[in-house]
Amino acid sequence: MVTPVGVYRSQVVAFAQYATSQVAHHRQVLALHRADGTGCCRHCGRVWPCEQVVHGRHMVDHFSEWALDDDATPARDT
Ligand SMILES: [Zn+2]
Repeated sequence: MVTPVGVYRSQVVAFAQYATSQVAHHRQVLALHRADGTGCCRHCGRVWPCEQVVHGRHMVDHFSEWALDDDATPARDT
């Protein structure tokens, strides 16, 4: 079974756009959830780092590999 190159390309672009939007979304979550100085998240009140931050960091790291965003430097330095 042969997949036409054009179809493959459009799927790659669609995935890159999806990855880009995922990175943007999780960065917004990370911008909201921050340590409040007492060891808790100032947004949701959970023990820092809250699960949204742990999940968000993982997702940004994961999707940055395919995101189109130029400033999305692959998060390999952490
Ligand atoms: Zn939180």
